[in-house]
Amino acid sequence: MVGNGDLTGFPTGASFEGDLADLIACPSCDLVYSIPDVTSHERAVCARCHTILISPRRKAGKQLIALSVTVLILIVAACAFPFLSIGAAGLHHDASILQTALAFSGSLSLLSLAVLFFIVVIPVIRLSLLIYVLAPIIRDRPPAPLARQAFALSEALVPWSMAEIFAIGCAVALVKLSDMADVVYGPAAWIFAVLVVLVVATDRLMCRYSIWKSLEN
Ligand SMILES: [Zn+2]
Repeated sequence: MVGNGDLTGFPTGASFEGDLADLIACPSCDLVYSIPDVTSHERAVCARCHTILISPRRKAGKQLIALSVTVLILIVAACAFPFLSIGAAGLHHDASILQTALAFSGSLSLLSLAVLFFIVVIPVIRLSLLIYVLAPIIRDRPPAPLARQAFALSEALVPWSMAEIFAIGCAVALVKLSDMADVVYGPAAWIFAVLVVLVVATDRLMCRYSIWKSLEN
């Protein structure tokens, strides 16, 4: 038994005749548990792989919405401001993410549009869906129409939402490039650095079990 929650695991393959609503499966290793009582500030952790299963927090919904709105504003700002300025042999050039994505032609334009999609469009869709789902919950209203589908789609988009991966990739590429040219990070690069932290914070704060539970009512 790990964590504060009282978890009882069923070995893989064991049969269990009971109400499925009383069971929770570990999303990483599929071990099935009967749902423990987890109060605010407690966590239920998988005994086999230590994945967090339930971590309800009071006011997490409001904080999640605040973080999501902040990330949305930062993503829009990151598109508008120059990402970096490169100088070599006396020439300087500023480029924003939008300019860069639209500057290529041919097969490179497909690649740059895909990058724009993964780092801007998908994160924006994902966070908008999350705000749509959480807004009625924090006001103790009934869930919004199609809220379950919206949350499922938002969760399905998580692996495709790559704003923070892009930031790390750029940092590596720019360190290499700085040998050949003067590279100055623009405001958008620093915004992406902040985004990395906020996206991780959003993920840490979100208890998916609690959200699904509140969408059942
Ligand atoms: Zn597990």
